[in-house]
Amino acid sequence: MALFVQKYGGTSVADIQRITHVAERVLKTYKQGHDVVVVLSAMAGDTDKLLDMAREAATWRSAKRERDALVSTGEQKTVALLAMVLASMGYKACSLLGFQAGIQTDGDHGNARIMSIDTRRIEALLKERNIVVVAGFQGINPEGDITTLGRGGSDTSAVAIASALNADMCEIYTDVNGIYTADPNICRRAKKLSSISYDEMLNMSSLGAKILQIRSVAFAKKYNVPVHVRSSFSEEEGTMVVSESTNPEMEKLSVSAITHSRDEVRITLEGVPDEPGMAGKIFSELADKSISVDMIIQNTRAGEATDLTFTVSTENFDQALEMGKKVVREINAKDIFYDKNIAKVSVIGIGMKENSGVAANVFNALAKENINILMISTSEIRISCVIEEKYVELAVRILHSAFDLDEE
Ligand code: ASP
Ligand code: MG
Repeated sequence: MALFVQKYGGTSVADIQRITHVAERVLKTYKQGHDVVVVLSAMAGDTDKLLDMAREAATWRSAKRERDALVSTGEQKTVALLAMVLASMGYKACSLLGFQAGIQTDGDHGNARIMSIDTRRIEALLKERNIVVVAGFQGINPEGDITTLGRGGSDTSAVAIASALNADMCEIYTDVNGIYTADPNICRRAKKLSSISYDEMLNMSSLGAKILQIRSVAFAKKYNVPVHVRSSFSEEEGTMVVSESTNPEMEKLSVSAITHSRDEVRITLEGVPDEPGMAGKIFSELADKSISVDMIIQNTRAGEATDLTFTVSTENFDQALEMGKKVVREINAKDIFYDKNIAKVSVIGIGMKENSGVAANVFNALAKENINILMISTSEIRISCVIEEKYVELAVRILHSAFDLDEE
C-alpha cells in the first residue's frame, strides 16, 4: 500500500459542492487501500479578501503577527469542511491546522520557511486509517505564533509534508490538466508535457508560469519528491515533475517550454558614476528589502558615467523606485526613470546544454516579426528577452513554433 499526499487548490474547494467532489476524489485513492494526507488551500478568492481586510485594518509592518493569524483562517475553514464531509460519508477523517500537524517554520511572518515537520500526530492518525486533512500555507514559529508561507504556499506545505512522510507521490490537483509547453490561454497549440525536470520547472515558476509556487519546486528538487500536477476536474494523467535522470527522453528537445510574464518593470538609473562599488551599493539596497532583481544591464565606457538598467516584479516596483531615488541622490547619479509596458518571454529547456544555436533561433524568430529586444539574459537552460508588452502573446506563439513545440 502506498502513501499519497494530495493537495487541492482554491478553485477545487471553492464551495461545498466542490469540496464534496474533492472528498469523492480522495476516497477513490483511499478505498484502494492507500493512506491519504490531503493538503488544502483556502476557497478561491478567500485569501485575497482576508488580505484586503488586513490592509484596511492596519499597516502590514505594524501587524505582521496578527495578519498571519487572520489570513491563515481561509485554510482553517476548508480543512474543517472537508473533514466534515468525509465523516458524513462514513469515513474517518481529521483536520489539522499547521501547528497541529507539527509544521515548524522560522519567524518571518508572511513569508515563513518550513524548518521541520514533526510527523508523529499525522502518522498516528494514519495508523488508525484516518484521512488526514492538513491546512496548507501555514505553520508555527519558535515563539509559538502562526506564520504563513507566502502566496501559493500550500504547494510548499504539500511537498514538505510528502517529503517528511516519505510519501510515494505528491499529487497537486489544480484546475488545469498539467503543465503545458506554453500558456494554453494565449497559445492554442500548446501541448501538455508528460514530464518535466525540477530545474526546468524552477525556471518556469520563476519566469511567470503560475502553476507551482517556486519554493515547492525547490523543496521537491532538494528532497527528490516526485510531484504529479493534475486536474481535480478530470481523470486524465497530468505532468510529472521529476529529476532529470528519470526521463532520458526529456533531453532530446532543446527547448521544453515557453514562459512569459507581464509582471515586470524596467528601471534605469541614468548617469551612474563609473567607479567601483556603485552596482554593489544599488543592489545591496534592493537585497536588504528582499527585492529580487532579474535582469541587469550596464554598458560602460572607461571614465564616463553609465546607465544601469534592471527589472523588478510589479509587486516590488514601488519600493524599488523609492530606493532607487534615494540611491540616485546618494551616489550623485543623474536621474531615474522606468517603463511599465514591458514583458518577458523565456525559452526553457535542459536540452539547451547540448544544443547550440538556441539563442540565434530566439533572436531571429523575434526579428522576423519585427519585435525589438530590449534586454536579454541567459543561463545554462534558459534565454529570456524583455520586449514591449503589446507583443508578448505574439512572441510566445512564434517562439513556440520556432522550437517545434506546436501540437500537430
Ligand atoms: N491560500 C493561499 C494563497 O492564496 C495559499 C495557497 O493557495 O496556496 O496564496
Ligand atoms: Mg496555487
